[in-house]
Amino acid sequence: MISKKVSVLCCLIGLFCCGCSQTAADVSQGLTTAADEPVTATIFAMDTYMTLTAYGKGAQEAIEQGQTCIETLDAMLSTGLDTSEVSRVNQNGSGILSEDAANILTRALEISAETDGAFNPLMYPIMEAWGFPTQNYRVPDEKELDALLERIDTSQVAFDAQSGAVIFLREGMEMDLGGIAKGYTSTKLMDLFASCGVTSGMVSLGGNVQVLGCKPDGTNWRIALQNPDGSDNYLGVLETSDMAVITSGGYERYFEQDGVTYHHIIDPSTGFPADSGLCSVTIVSADGTLADGLSTALFVMGLEKSIAFWQTHSENFDAIFLTDDDQLYVTAGIAEDFVDAYYDVTVIEEG
Ligand code: ADP
Ligand code: MG
Repeated sequence: MISKKVSVLCCLIGLFCCGCSQTAADVSQGLTTAADEPVTATIFAMDTYMTLTAYGKGAQEAIEQGQTCIETLDAMLSTGLDTSEVSRVNQNGSGILSEDAANILTRALEISAETDGAFNPLMYPIMEAWGFPTQNYRVPDEKELDALLERIDTSQVAFDAQSGAVIFLREGMEMDLGGIAKGYTSTKLMDLFASCGVTSGMVSLGGNVQVLGCKPDGTNWRIALQNPDGSDNYLGVLETSDMAVITSGGYERYFEQDGVTYHHIIDPSTGFPADSGLCSVTIVSADGTLADGLSTALFVMGLEKSIAFWQTHSENFDAIFLTDDDQLYVTAGIAEDFVDAYYDVTVIEEG
């Protein structure tokens, strides 16, 4: 029962200005130049479909370099590719990571520490036990998972971020950067777009969206959030600019056995799929790496802990939560930007 659904956070075309900082002059110019025709590309990488869109001067180059960037990071980070840097370290128990891989591991370990271990970049042995990498799904028993928990202890990683040298201190430890790689990639793409002179662009990496600037007409991007029920009734639309909008949900990848659904976001304290009462978590932040790491971590933490976490870190991100019983919560920082909500919205206020 293979159930990989490509999540669709569609980027809708906005029809009205939502307060982006461009001037009226910029807007009218933007509307009339041929440069408004986007350059786009769709590729399959990191196990998902990705679309890249860039407008204006430098767009062609940005899209070409963007594709190369994605392919490079995929070949570096993929656990499914024996020759990737991550696989080599996993096979040998040690190795030297290149700059990008070292940056990602650094951020992953930071986010792991900040979230009290809810995010864990060493989940691979447990993902394997459940059969997620090969899609030969099975349900491991508690004893097996308890033994594997020994291998995901982040204190047993010796890592020097400067040199990229990493050593696993216990037998059988293996990295899995899948919970953060797409967010790191989308932020890197935005930097790359900007370095090509692009001021308006968007990437959607399997539904994880990051936008650069505003739309060419000067209005905010409108990013529709997928409803986990798979219907066309979006959860709502976020109007934003210069942000990553990254979602984790149990509905994205799962299998069923004996009438029970098992999804791919694992609670590192048990080894079982997180069952925190949340159905989907969307993180909005200028830092895509943070957004991706936190989307996974807060999904594990559940609503109550996530609210407390946001209240102490609200300068770094905002969030949209959907509970298993269809309660929709939005943090105060984006409450006014989240429109056309499908369910009633409860706003989470600062603590
Ligand atoms: P997606 O990759 O589908 O967008 P996530 O960002 O939530 O979703 O990442 C889920 C992936 O992260 C899993 O497929 C697995 O590789 C890895 N993972 C699972 N549980 C955790 C966890 N608690 N912490 C960090 N990574 C995890
Ligand atoms: Mg994630």
